[in-house]
Formats: sequence, structure tokens, C-alpha cells
Amino acid sequence: MSSSNNECTVEAMKDSEGMNLDGVYCTHCPSKILNPGSAAFKRFEFPLPLMQYKKGEQIDKKETLEVFWQVDDVMTFENIGVSHKVDNIKYLACADCERGPVGWIDADTQQCYIALDRVKHTSAASDSGRPRQSLDDFLKSAK
Ligand SMILES: [Zn+2]
Repeated sequence: MSSSNNECTVEAMKDSEGMNLDGVYCTHCPSKILNPGSAAFKRFEFPLPLMQYKKGEQIDKKETLEVFWQVDDVMTFENIGVSHKVDNIKYLACADCERGPVGWIDADTQQCYIALDRVKHTSAASDSGRPRQSLDDFLKSAK
């Protein structure tokens, strides 16, 4: 591993235990998805359908995402919408505006995953409404 730059950026997103440092919110509305410290950072590749903006629209196109928050139990979420099962996966969307998928539940393990680049991270301490770090910058450096 020689990607020290990437690791520094990831370190800024998680606490010493590898949990999310900031609250996780919907990018389209004020709905809170996760409290700080409730999800574990994971890095792997997973093809997630593109965000859809109409309920029931056919999910066909996917993009491969690489960084996720892992949650052991769907009850951990502050607010989340769960879709019907597709290929042993239940996709997760915002509970309020229904935009998604922002992540998914593995129906076998019941582990939930939220894609970092489908959500907004906001620190409660710096409540200026501005995220500590722009997600665009984070994703750029995570590549
Ligand atoms: Zn929303």
C-alpha cells in the first residue's frame, strides 16, 4: 500500500475506532440517516444502481462505488427507506424524499451499507451548515 494520501483523507472522515465522525444526511433534504459514531468505514468495490429520481423507475444502470459506511442493524439508522428485495439485496433510500439508492442491505447477513458519495456528512460541532470537507474533494482524493 503506497496510497498514503488517500488514507489521510479517509482518516479525516472517521474516528480512532474507524467509525463515522460526522452525522450522515440525505443530499437532497435535511433528513438525518446516521448519528456520528454509528457506522464503520469499509472500502471495497460494489456496483450500485445510479440514483433514480422517480419512485418505481427501472433500476438498470450501475456504477462501481468503493467507500461505504457499514451498519450492523437497520434499527441503527435514524431515518431510512427500505426497498423490496432485488437479487438478495434491499436497496436503501432517503425515508423522506425517497431518493436513492444511497446504499443497500445484504439479505443474507443483514449488514447495511451506505455509499459515502451518495450522502452528506455534517459535523454537529461546526453547525454552520457546511460540511467539514467537501465530498467532491474527498472522492477525488480517494480515487
Ligand atoms: Zn431526502
